[in-house]
This record gives sequence, C-alpha cells and structure tokens, in this order.
Amino acid sequence: MVNADAAMYHAKKQGRNGYCFFEHGMNANVHLQMQMQQNLRQAVSRNELVLHYQPKFVAPDGPMTGLEALLRWQSPDHGFLSPDRFLPLAESSGLIVPIGNWVIEEACRQMKVWYDQGHQEWSVAVNLSAVQLEHHSLVDVVREALRKHSLDPSHLVLEITETTAMCNAETSLTVLNKLSDLGVSISIDDFGTGYSSLLYLKRLPANELKIDRGFITELAQDNDDEAIIQAIIALGKTLDMRIVAEGVETAEQQALLTQLGCNTLQGYLLARPAPPEALLEKIAHMTQRTESALVT
Ligand code: C2E
Ligand code: MG
Ligand code: MG
Repeated sequence: MVNADAAMYHAKKQGRNGYCFFEHGMNANVHLQMQMQQNLRQAVSRNELVLHYQPKFVAPDGPMTGLEALLRWQSPDHGFLSPDRFLPLAESSGLIVPIGNWVIEEACRQMKVWYDQGHQEWSVAVNLSAVQLEHHSLVDVVREALRKHSLDPSHLVLEITETTAMCNAETSLTVLNKLSDLGVSISIDDFGTGYSSLLYLKRLPANELKIDRGFITELAQDNDDEAIIQAIIALGKTLDMRIVAEGVETAEQQALLTQLGCNTLQGYLLARPAPPEALLEKIAHMTQRTESALVT
C-alpha cells in the first residue's frame, strides 16, 4: 500500500491523467516524508522552529513600517529548512495548527520586545494558511497571544494569500471579520496569482494588498506587468487598501513601483529576512545613515 501510494503521489506530481510504476527511489521519498512528519511533530517542543523577519519600508526606502515573520525549521536531521520544504507536509498532516499557533505567539512576543525598545510605529505580520483559517480556535489563539504579551492589536497583521481568501469564501469572510473586530489588520498576500471575485474582495475586511513577486520580477517600463501593477494599485486604492510590493530586488523596480504609487516596498534590495538580533544591527546602521543624510 505504501509503495502504491508513493507511485500515486509521483504520478500526481507530474500532472493529472497519468500513471507511474513504483520504483525504489519513490519509496525512499515516502519514508523520508514519514520521518520528516515524525520530526516535525516534535519541532515545537524541541525549540527547533525559529522566526526570521523581513522589514517592510515606506516607498522608496524607508522608514520601516514593520516586519513579516517567516518561519524556518532548524532540524537536526534535515538541516536548516525554509517553509516550502516543510509547510506542505505541515498542512497535509494538520501540524500547521500547533506550529502556526506557536508562530502567532512568538511573533507577538517579539513585537512586544521591539515595542518596549521604542519601535512603537511597527507592526508584525504573520502568514496564515488555509488550514489555520478554517480551524475553530484561530480567533481565540490570536486574542490570547495579544493578551498574554499585552500587545495592542494594531501591531499585528495577518497575511492570507488571495487563493486562501477566495476559496471557501464565506468561511474566510466570517473568520476574517472576527479577527478584524479584534483590531488586527488583514493583508491579502500573493495578490494577482489567484482568481479574485471583485464583489467578494470588496466585502473583505482587508487593509493591505501585497502584489505578488511574480509581477515585480519582470517589471520594466512599458511591459504588461507595469499595466497589471497599475490596475492592482488602482483597485487597491479604490478599496482603501495599502499597497505593498514584495520581492523588490533592483533599484529600477524600486523607482518604478514608487512612481506607480505603491505605498510600501519589501524585498532583498532593502532587507533580507534575518533573525531579530541581526536585524536590529542593520536597522540601527540604516537609521544612522538616514539621520546623517538629514544633517548634511
Ligand atoms: P510570502 O508570505 O509571500 O513571503 C515572501 C517570500 O519571498 C519569503 O520566502 C521571502 O523570504 C521571499 N522573498 C522576500 N523578498 C524577496 C526578494 O526580493 N526576492 C526573492 N526571490 N524572494 C524574496 P520564504 O520565507 O521562503 O516563505 C515562503 C512562503 O512560505 C511565504 O510566502 C508564506 O506563504 C509561507 N510562510 C512563511 N512563514 C510562514 C508561517 O509562519 N506560516 C504560514 N502558514 N506560512 C508561512
Ligand atoms: Mg507573506
Ligand atoms: Mg507573498
């Protein structure tokens, strides 16, 4: 059965309407996945999960408005893993619920530390997957994390992808309204990659649209991506949302996005995701630079 399963997953990976004969290599993969799932189950209690943070900046280059928490797993067996390596497994096994709860709690704790250090204008953004959104405990978990760390809800942003928000629309709407009533902000991530119903988008209590990196990567003057970005910005502004461009890697993209009217920029050009300690040094450095530029 395990082998047949492995062959089925292999076939599915290659697209629909196909078939595969089982080969030993596939089984190794299944065992690896099972072992990984076993390890992931213990990752929270063994303190193997860490959050890196990537700053968001007012366009074109600051000041910083907040940070996005991005999950990393320091696994003794598999090394340092980014989310695409273990999130699908966490989602299909349901482990994303306890893991996601840890992320919410840890991000609130860290934000409170920054707040107490004087960064009172920042907010922290946490990514939520569809499984978390559908889980009955989400609103309580968020409320409790804010209470535990005495963090004002205005310092927490919840990012959900456009696809998550749009599929199972009525459920998402109910939960997002409850979260919004708590006072947290809602951001629509990877915008432009899914199929949005504009009527439904209008009803979402979202404060922010994040234009997917796919549009930014190939952005250059006078190509289709520029027109699409212009349309997204116009749409977002009509709905009274802040527009964030993610994956900004070049100075050209930074200039063009600012000119097109993006409020906020995020990407390797401005800052890469990093652990909180490393970030503070970098930010202190940047603040000094800005201040000395103002003096001169
Ligand atoms: P996302 O929320 O859209 O996050 C942006 C991803 O793009 C991050 O990858 C970030 O490191 C990367 N990125 C940022 N700037 C640039 C750039 O200039 N160029 C390029 N090439 N990449 C850039 P990461 O950290 O691997 O996360 C991937 C996805 O995993 C995230 O996409 C998010 O959907 C998901 N994710 C991350 N952390 C969590 C979490 O705690 N919970 C849940 N449910 N999902 C998470
Ligand atoms: Mg995100
Ligand atoms: Mg994104």
